[in-house]
Amino acid sequence: MQEENANPRVLVVEDEPALVETLEYSLRRQGYDVSVATDGVAALETARRDKPDVIILDVMLPRLDGYEVCRVLRQEMSVPILMLTARTDEVDKVVGLEVGADDYMTKPFGMRELMARVKALLRRVRLTREELAAAGATAHGPDVQSERMTFGDLVIDLGRREVRLGEEVIHLKPKEFELLVFLARNRGIVLTRDLALERVWGWEYDGGSRTVDVHVRWLREKLEKEPSNPARIMTVRGVGYRFDG
Ligand code: CA
Repeated sequence: MQEENANPRVLVVEDEPALVETLEYSLRRQGYDVSVATDGVAALETARRDKPDVIILDVMLPRLDGYEVCRVLRQEMSVPILMLTARTDEVDKVVGLEVGADDYMTKPFGMRELMARVKALLRRVRLTREELAAAGATAHGPDVQSERMTFGDLVIDLGRREVRLGEEVIHLKPKEFELLVFLARNRGIVLTRDLALERVWGWEYDGGSRTVDVHVRWLREKLEKEPSNPARIMTVRGVGYRFDG
């Protein structure tokens, strides 16, 4: 991570020169420092060297594709990753989320929208660091023992595996807890039932995606003021669920 007063650094991984130029120009104008890598192998080297605060990562890249880059980086650092793809296929979004991307944009995209997403990702990192600091953890690297997520009066304490709503401790079954954590970690992102199944129940589980619906219903009954009109766990028709906070 950068020094406290330094500009946030964005790593742009893209092999299309015109797009690199536009991105670099727009990001610098917003006050970011910018690193550029034009293939997947260079992306890994540059990320390790420059320790960016956000990575904008194209999927189709020479030498190593964006999915592979994302998969490798995820094991080494917790930097937020925004993936860019030329395709509109929903499957790509799911693959992107599977390999650990935090957000997704389909080309062609508006520069204003992209800047808003980058800003949102940086805000999320800052919040996480503040939450960790508040919990007494070091600001570097995740400290699972004391990591907690706060959404208004809802607090998810990962170390103690405890969920509180205001003063009240909410009793969740293990899978309810894991599903909630999975949703919360991907706040604002639409998650498919299949991805939730794979992440929370594992590949071998063959209970079907109804399982996810049932657990979401239980979570809503425990966490929502009006379970039939949820404000935290939203249904996205035909796709899955999105945690709004
Ligand atoms: Ca490309």
